[in-house]
Amino acid sequence: MNKIVTILDSMDYGPSPEEDSHVRAWLTRHGGRFGQFIGGRLTKPDGTTFEVRNPADGELLAEVAEAGEAEVEAAVKAATSAFKSWSALSGTERARHLYAIARQVQKHARFLAVLETLDNGKPIRETRDIDVPLVARHFYHHAGWAELRDDEFPGHAPAGVCGQIIPWNFPLLMLAWKVAPALAAGCTVVLKSAEHTPLTALAFAELCAEAGLPAGVFNLVNGGGTTGALVAGHPGLAKLAFTGSTEVGRLLRRQTAGSGKKLSLELGGKSPFIVFDSADIDAAVEGVVDAIWFNQGEVCCAGSRALVQEGIADRFHAKLRARMERLRVGSPLDKSTDIGAVVAPVQIASIRAKVEAGVAEGATLWQPSWADEAFARATEKGCFFPPSLFTGVSPASALAQEEIFGPVLVSMTFRTPGEAVTLANNSRYGLAASIWSQNLDVAFDAARKVKAGVVWINSTNLFDAAVGFGGYKESGFGREGGREGMLEYLVPAWEKKARPVPAGKALPAPVPVDGDAGPGSVSASLDRTVKLYIGGRQMRPDSGYSYPVLDPKGRLITEAGWGSRKDIRNAVEAARKADAWSDMTGHARAQVLWFLAENLELRAAEFAARIDRMTGVGSKQATREVAASVARIVHYAARADKHDGRVRAPQGRMLALALPEPFEVIGISCPDEAPLLGFVSLVAPAIAMGNRVVVTPSQHHPLAACDLYQVLDTSDVPDGVVNIVTGDRDQLAVVMARHDDIAACWYAGSADGSAMVERESAGNLKATWVNHGKARDWHDPAQGQGEEFLFRATRIKSIWTPFGV
Ligand code: NAD
Repeated sequence: MNKIVTILDSMDYGPSPEEDSHVRAWLTRHGGRFGQFIGGRLTKPDGTTFEVRNPADGELLAEVAEAGEAEVEAAVKAATSAFKSWSALSGTERARHLYAIARQVQKHARFLAVLETLDNGKPIRETRDIDVPLVARHFYHHAGWAELRDDEFPGHAPAGVCGQIIPWNFPLLMLAWKVAPALAAGCTVVLKSAEHTPLTALAFAELCAEAGLPAGVFNLVNGGGTTGALVAGHPGLAKLAFTGSTEVGRLLRRQTAGSGKKLSLELGGKSPFIVFDSADIDAAVEGVVDAIWFNQGEVCCAGSRALVQEGIADRFHAKLRARMERLRVGSPLDKSTDIGAVVAPVQIASIRAKVEAGVAEGATLWQPSWADEAFARATEKGCFFPPSLFTGVSPASALAQEEIFGPVLVSMTFRTPGEAVTLANNSRYGLAASIWSQNLDVAFDAARKVKAGVVWINSTNLFDAAVGFGGYKESGFGREGGREGMLEYLVPAWEKKARPVPAGKALPAPVPVDGDAGPGSVSASLDRTVKLYIGGRQMRPDSGYSYPVLDPKGRLITEAGWGSRKDIRNAVEAARKADAWSDMTGHARAQVLWFLAENLELRAAEFAARIDRMTGVGSKQATREVAASVARIVHYAARADKHDGRVRAPQGRMLALALPEPFEVIGISCPDEAPLLGFVSLVAPAIAMGNRVVVTPSQHHPLAACDLYQVLDTSDVPDGVVNIVTGDRDQLAVVMARHDDIAACWYAGSADGSAMVERESAGNLKATWVNHGKARDWHDPAQGQGEEFLFRATRIKSIWTPFGV
């Protein structure tokens, strides 16, 4: 009984359930059955359906038709026919539509919050105060981008019809993250909801119709992986955006390889939550609650891996346990619930299995005293799991490495800041990191060194439409939110009219470097073979072979090294060692580039003669190419200290820095056309941004790049920053695409080669940039230089930091 004395004794909350009758009335209005939303209207729920249940009690909420081939086809058709008129609207007109959607979301905020809670199991406090407001914020923010698109992104066009596939953990928010930038850019959309949670997307579709969004601009198909694969594989799409598991992300990378679709992947994570001994411990404990018990821990960027400095670990864990003891798990609709229901029985089973395996591995599991059999009995009908803490975890164990995607924190200790960073980066993922220290030097030093796309200092799990979100390493590539997120839905306008590169001739067969093929043959003597350039030294090719470099009439000019797998490996090794380059200031890198331009210019005549001899373009054109190459290096010398990021103020007392960071090692396959300018146009922006590169120059005309060896040496380019391996472009590109220490691959060659690079890069999910066999006019500054190159040469790290108290 709730007598005042007992209430004062326990200080417990009474039940405070949110009203859900309006949501139930909506479900009833639809007869509890839904189809797809195609061409501006809901279709009849024909064919196979799947059940949507409330994970808090197993109640059947609705049945939803699974979209098959015909539905996906119809949705893409609707989006394709809407694209023409939608993309032709003025920015202001598109902005008004996005604004109208934002208003609709705000108007129906309570309805959407309750529906999301019923469907997903997340606490109403979170849907009401976080998910739905962020959804509205996203549409408002992108209404602004629609208005500003042409001013802010001159020379760009909308990508086209976009396929978008979302997960179940933030169903409406993930929809907003995808749909808002697409519509703002002028694209139309086919979105596939997640099979556990399609309901808010269906309600959103109705809101779009009510807001007067033109038919076909937003289309929704529902279903599981099979439907997703149909969307991803549809040839009518120009872009695919995916959020979900790394496993499926990898499948999609392979499935879309060579299709010409732009791809962005937001994948899994095992994000570190680093607590230094200089942290405000109470604040950090509260931070853990938001890091891992927000949304039941079903958060891709959850701070699921605590790293605590040894001296404070016992105190920190004791306070954490006391806090966990007071967390409330229960009805998601109750306003005083902290942790709601996990999305589905299959997810509970997966969490249990991982926790049991952790115990079997020898780690120590702690759960609150109330997480006993009685809790299990009380929550039998629903998918509930108590907050859990593992200590005594070994850094290499599955517990520390694999995503659990539930309310389970694993905690380890470290001694020094250096060790903290090493442990933090000891993961195949790189989505987010949360860093706690009152010492700014310590916090920012770790923020800079952690390999993650989002870093929160003395905070965690903060999101905003203006701040880019996305991963490093196997957490995927591409960003959602902010200016960088808009670029994911735009393409350079000239690309739409680009012609195919002319079919290249086959390379002459390689010959042994020191073999004797007899008098009169193209035999290679050691002296005549142009070597490779690795780690600042000229090296013989490991294969022991070279290949003839011929003039346009087929006469031998000289021989170039026949690079192989081993040479690429050595080059990557050298590039890895040159990491000081990435830490240099833009100013210091700019000076090297200026010097490089100067030294190339001094030898302009010699380079022009070489280009003419190899390609037969004539001395005037060859001279023009060298001059353009010098100018291009100057361009990136100028840019080196200016592409240095932005500051955003997403919330009153927080700043977010958008810092472009290098990929570190980029593999580059250069085009055959414009052998010097093509090489310089790709290498200069990459190194200007702090990357080290492994490059295969033009395969038929490699000598212009090889002549650069001495220029690089005399221009103070540190050893290992530029590594050049001559040979067969595609054979070498496949080695680079598969190499785990290369984080990005650029490829300018054939359509088949482009497909191969995209497919083979799926292993460590490299960011790829390929030309799909389309030619670029390297002399045209609109095509051959500029923001696109810098965007491709960097990835944004968003660092959130408190700015005031
Ligand atoms: P999932 O990869 O199984 O499913 C995600 C979506 O992909 C669903 O809509 C699903 O139906 C669809 N899908 C499944 N197989 C497919 C296929 N072969 N082809 C096309 N689509 C397919 O992941 P999940 O279990 O729904 O979500 C949890 C995962 O998502 C976690 O790993 C989490 O870290 C990740 N996640 C990442 C982010 C982020 O922004 N990085 C955000 C939320 C969730």
